Amino acid sequence: MDKQISFLDQLFDRGILYDSAVDGLYARSGIFEDVIARFEDLAKSFGKDETSEAMVFPPGLPMKDFETSGYMKNFPQLAGTVHAFCGNDHDHAGLLQCLASGEDWTKNQKATDIALTPAACYPLYPILARRGPLPATGAYVALQSYCYRHEPSREPTRMQMFRQREFVRVGNSEQAIEFRETWKKRGQEIMKLLQLPCHVEVANDPFFGRAGKIMGSSQREQELKFELVVPINSEASPTACMSFNYHMDNFGKAWNIRQADGSHAYTACVGFGLERIALALFRHHGLETENWPTNVRKVLWG
Ligand code: AMP
Ligand code: ZN
Repeated sequence: MDKQISFLDQLFDRGILYDSAVDGLYARSGIFEDVIARFEDLAKSFGKDETSEAMVFPPGLPMKDFETSGYMKNFPQLAGTVHAFCGNDHDHAGLLQCLASGEDWTKNQKATDIALTPAACYPLYPILARRGPLPATGAYVALQSYCYRHEPSREPTRMQMFRQREFVRVGNSEQAIEFRETWKKRGQEIMKLLQLPCHVEVANDPFFGRAGKIMGSSQREQELKFELVVPINSEASPTACMSFNYHMDNFGKAWNIRQADGSHAYTACVGFGLERIALALFRHHGLETENWPTNVRKVLWG
């Protein structure tokens, strides 16, 4: 625990991240952002021959699509929704009074039609569905989004707002599975180039509640999720920096994404936790990027 706090404090002391009054909500320095941008270029170079299009999403997702995703069934503890003031002058006066007296001013805020994006690939699926059946080659999309998860923590690697870069494959089951296996290998190649110790292991998502335990075990048994982990906060419990997910036809069915033959599409995605990968680099190679190993610098900065 002390070790985690001290790494976070070192990052603040060196001006790599900037603290706020909220755990897991930090401003990023220019150098931190540069490392992320360089890493994204590296990751994109691995998928460039297959990618059919690229998208960057804002951090919000239409509420309807958020509902369709099933996120509130599986991960209600992590979700965030956008609420806004929708009142009249009288309501505004009440709000100002609450603010002045330190009472809860948020109780009359109303849900908007936007939820915070919990996973970078969710906004993609409704876009693909609206286009009608996929071509026979399916879709292969490079994307990036800020994500929100309500998991406040002083572990520097567990933020409430962070970015995921993803590649997403949509097509038949063979295409999705092959994609997932390819990226498991590529993820390890990328980490080798960055000289970061890692291994890939079977994993499960943090499904909520008692039913969630069963869902987590079933996800593991079916080997639907793998994570590439790197020791960052401790050797004993390394941190997931990438995930390799096969969703079967769950999202195809939820959003009604069709293959060329009319059947529901299968999907898979690889997600890179951009802040975690930057933190792994700072943890293993030091807080001064000029002192990072020459070959790592070459891979990132050319
Ligand atoms: P997941 O959708 O949970 O598989 O997450 C994909 C990747 O995003 C993970 O492997 C992490 O690298 C990253 N990630 C997930 N949650 C967080 C978080 N709270 N803070 C920072 N990065 C995260
Ligand atoms: Zn995804």
